[in-house]
Amino acid sequence: MIRTKTTKKINDNVEIKEETYSPEIDYSDRIIGDLNGAEAGPTVIALAGIHGNEPTGIEAIRHIIEKLESKKGAFKGRFLGLIGNIEALQQRKRFIDEDMNRIWFTSILDKIRRTPISELKTAERRETKKLLEIIDPIILNEDQEQPVILVDLHSFSAESGLFVISTRDEENIELLAQLRVPLIFGIEKALHGTALKYIQNTGNIGFAFETGQHFSENAEDNASAGILCLLVAAGCISASSIEDFTRYYDYLSKQTQTLPHKVEFLYKHIIEPEDNFEMRPGFKNFDKVEKGQWLANDRHGKILAQRDGFILMPLYQQQGEDGFFIVEESE
Ligand SMILES: [Zn+2]
Repeated sequence: MIRTKTTKKINDNVEIKEETYSPEIDYSDRIIGDLNGAEAGPTVIALAGIHGNEPTGIEAIRHIIEKLESKKGAFKGRFLGLIGNIEALQQRKRFIDEDMNRIWFTSILDKIRRTPISELKTAERRETKKLLEIIDPIILNEDQEQPVILVDLHSFSAESGLFVISTRDEENIELLAQLRVPLIFGIEKALHGTALKYIQNTGNIGFAFETGQHFSENAEDNASAGILCLLVAAGCISASSIEDFTRYYDYLSKQTQTLPHKVEFLYKHIIEPEDNFEMRPGFKNFDKVEKGQWLANDRHGKILAQRDGFILMPLYQQQGEDGFFIVEESE
């Protein structure tokens, strides 16, 4: 259910209070739910928790599947909800051995498919193998007549904001524009081996939905509203079949009304081992920054903004190699 309560405030040194979000989540089954409509239609796959410290999407998927269970007769196509990195989720860590959202290169995935699970060296490759066993028959099915859309749900360590990371493919833009969530283009130039890029390369529609702060109820609600709006936008179900659809739609619009509609990637701060990177406190997604502004520190001193723009995904957690992104408004 969409709550009226907003994200709990984080304290001054931007430490995330994980205990504020601790639903009893059972991660044992990778398939959260699989809703099959009465008529043919698109297949929408929602993937959550590819990063183990990002469980909010799982509850959101569960909520939407329960909500639509009684509306199967009006549903066209399929909605499949999947869990990504079960082992990391159990440990509430971004990853165990390697980042599961940086290994989706065609050749690495091919190797993962060919290697027996007992011989795979990292937890993430084992998780990916099990996930591919479920999605390969859908993603790689060339006889598929209906569109396949994969939304990869994420959250972030900074406070507030939500956005979608997409390619500039026209069908993506057309679909995503209906969600009224800021679209970020060009990040694929800076992030390699992501699930979204791989899905896009297979000829399907793939994008990442960054829904809010890790372990926050707000991130879960944004994900629920986003998924429901996506299913309507994709044509799986009509808005009129869902009595309280406007509540979800209005909620989502309200979250994004002050944010830019489309932005383009400009710059990424890369963290290298032993940099001791530390973001200065207080930065939120889409805060305006100016070239020369003091944003962070590392062992060599101050890190200044190299460009004017909006800051995105400032890093307030230990794991991760992307310190922050700078984006600019685009057409
Ligand atoms: Zn993530």
